[in-house]
Amino acid sequence: MRSLIFSARPYDVRSFRSVNDARDTPLDLSFREPRLDVTTASLAEGFDVVVPFVNDTVDAEVIEKLADGGTRLLALRSSGFNHVDLDAAEQAGLTVMRVPAYSPHAVAEFTLALMLSVDRHVHRAYARVRDGNFSLEGLLGSGLHGRTVGIVGTGRIGSTVARILRGFGCELLAYDPYPNEEVTALGARQVDLDTLLRSSDIVTLHCPLTPESHHLIDAAAIERMREGVMIVNTSRGELVDTRAVIDGLKSGAIGSLALDVYEEEGDLFFEDLSDRVITDDVFSRLLTFPNVLITAHQAFFTTEALARIATTTLDNIDAFARGERSGTEVTPETVTGG
Ligand code: NAD
Repeated sequence: MRSLIFSARPYDVRSFRSVNDARDTPLDLSFREPRLDVTTASLAEGFDVVVPFVNDTVDAEVIEKLADGGTRLLALRSSGFNHVDLDAAEQAGLTVMRVPAYSPHAVAEFTLALMLSVDRHVHRAYARVRDGNFSLEGLLGSGLHGRTVGIVGTGRIGSTVARILRGFGCELLAYDPYPNEEVTALGARQVDLDTLLRSSDIVTLHCPLTPESHHLIDAAAIERMREGVMIVNTSRGELVDTRAVIDGLKSGAIGSLALDVYEEEGDLFFEDLSDRVITDDVFSRLLTFPNVLITAHQAFFTTEALARIATTTLDNIDAFARGERSGTEVTPETVTGG
């Protein structure tokens, strides 16, 4: 069974090779650097398995090309599957598998890193000190202790964030259509989304991107939030209406913003564009705010997480080759997860 890994960066190649070489029977893996889309799908001709990443395009057109080329399995190397047209995959007879949980701690810890950095202005302090500016003016923080944090989505990552924030002495509010009792046991109050938005000093997003959660944070949501709220998004960019958030930052309704994901990140993230002109004016505007911290979808990026992603992906391919179920299959009926 031949597998092709798209969007393969050097660190992906290293991690997949090292996990594969340690297997009793290594799999036949090939790597291609380009993103999977309609122009690159033909590279997969003759490959039984295609392994896409989060910003690859896996829509109906691409799926049809892959199926025509002989692909039978889409082994996603992400927990999120919002980028895959699951109906089209089912129609084309392609199985879809994913990596449901590789390291909720990696994403949860990074969420805290963003929260603390943007609250205490660490990103600005770093640049200032390197420039010989040791003034504290403008670096006043609020601290996390005693503040109310609203967690939207309390699955693997959201509940890990809740446990960490509990240690910081935060008041916790949680909203999830499937309330997590573990989070209630931590002392979090399960509330509806409206209450969470109205009562939180910090709102952190950990739900998957679905038609229901698209632009969950829009102008109407921002209007309901506390003046000066901090918004943190390490989930999926399209949960946040970026233009509405820019308006909120300009008016002061939003006090600070930390993003590891951005709704149009596909053309930007994971690339070195430092010698090019960024043509996305919305993104460029975001970068001008002193109270905005953006990272390029790196919350998952730890050695442990990469190893687990490779291990589960190869186990998925192995199970498929043996005609077995892995338990990580995704179908149009899969409603939760991300
Ligand atoms: P999970 O499936 O364990 O938990 C998601 C939770 O969200 C579930 O409890 C579900 O009931 C809830 N939910 C679904 N729709 C909701 C809605 N509209 N409002 C509120 N809650 C809702 O998933 P997870 O492993 O905790 O991952 C969460 C998200 O994190 C993923 O969907 C993915 O998009 C994102 N993620 C980001 C990175 C990164 O590097 N930035 C890495 C991994 C995952």
